Amino acid sequence: MRSAPLLLALAISGAALAAQAPEPRDARIAEAVAKVQAADLQATVAKLVSFGTRHTLSKADDPVRGIGAARAWLASAFGDLAKAPGSRLKPFEDRFTQPAGTRMPSPAELVNVGTILPGTDPRRAKEAIVLTGHYDSRVTDVMNATADAPGADDDGSGTSMALEAAKALAAARPAITIYFVAVVGEEQGLFGSAHLAKRLQDEGVTVLAMLSVDIAGNTRSGDGRRDSLHARIWSEGSPATESPAQRHLRLALGNEQDSPSREWARYLARVGGRYVDGLELRVMRRRDRIARGSDHMSFSATGSPAACLREGIENYDGQHQDVRVEDGRAFGDTLEGFDAPYAAKLCKAVVAAFAELASAPEPPSDLTLGGAVSPDTKLKWTLPADPRVAGLILYRRAADTGNWQRAQRLAPSSALTLPGVVPDDSVFALATVDAEGHESLPAEVAHLE
Ligand SMILES: [Zn+2]
Repeated sequence: MRSAPLLLALAISGAALAAQAPEPRDARIAEAVAKVQAADLQATVAKLVSFGTRHTLSKADDPVRGIGAARAWLASAFGDLAKAPGSRLKPFEDRFTQPAGTRMPSPAELVNVGTILPGTDPRRAKEAIVLTGHYDSRVTDVMNATADAPGADDDGSGTSMALEAAKALAAARPAITIYFVAVVGEEQGLFGSAHLAKRLQDEGVTVLAMLSVDIAGNTRSGDGRRDSLHARIWSEGSPATESPAQRHLRLALGNEQDSPSREWARYLARVGGRYVDGLELRVMRRRDRIARGSDHMSFSATGSPAACLREGIENYDGQHQDVRVEDGRAFGDTLEGFDAPYAAKLCKAVVAAFAELASAPEPPSDLTLGGAVSPDTKLKWTLPADPRVAGLILYRRAADTGNWQRAQRLAPSSALTLPGVVPDDSVFALATVDAEGHESLPAEVAHLE
């Protein structure tokens, strides 16, 4: 009689171990992730700082100082990546005239610069994912275009990661296209990202997901605390663009935490975290820090899932400040505040999540939840026509939690009943996977039955 409890205990610990077993890493993605180098990020941020200021309204024609010199250097750096042996990257430039307006005294020509990794699936030639960092910088007075504005963290960090991620994925052959873009005019009013989002929409490009990396390389706060183990991902809850019918469904489901943008944030944390040790990616249940924003909002505004990756702990003395010392306290966004080994961890997570999503099959559609006023959950859905779909992952969590708790693998199918799982107390989403395990963004419930 003594062996029964022991067997039970073994069975329980075995199950617990299985639940904690790490997801396998894809060898090709791991190889791309390993190309991210802290030293390269450091060199890029140092170069960006060397232009003195990168204020959007600073000199466009000075070869050494200002936004024009920074842009020229970035264009040549992205261009060099495209010319490297084995590279599949293509140059990308988005040049436009920003009209006069708030924080913009007169019209000016602004330029986003970057590179494109073309997708390989001709069926999905118009689908893309987008990574941005903003290369403009500022000081205390947002209209001061002449003072030193080093912008090492804001947003040398994100700009350096856009360049480094492109380098790491230069030879990859994803199903869909990836844009790596250094955008301009963020501090003046998200001008560059707004133009890019609109341009892609006008070109008929469907942006499956967008990430702004902005303020993502600092590990010491103004009060001396240190944190190099966390980063935060921000995303909107209820989508800015949802229709009255979509809002009605969201309220009926109580799905305020399950917008496509939030799903993308969870994806970044889950897949990115799988490839990086010593980093916890926190899925924040807010669009951004309080009363602040970044370029992800330009893409949310056009209906694309979008998120913003930021460091775990911020130094507010470094942000939007004239470079100075007051009573022994240093202000300004200087190179000393940039922690390249930490930034490299974040960049690796970004590379992994982008590589996986760009390689994944199309997601399921029309996920329909039935079983209301019943103890059983009934789900049905439509599989995409994508021939690469090899299976499904059903994500599930309790309705009083924020992150997925269970991932259930399913064979290709179109319906499932979960006896004894009360739909009122659970949340569901469904992803597709290919034969190598690359998973799509999970689809949220689109219909109630
Ligand atoms: Zn910024």
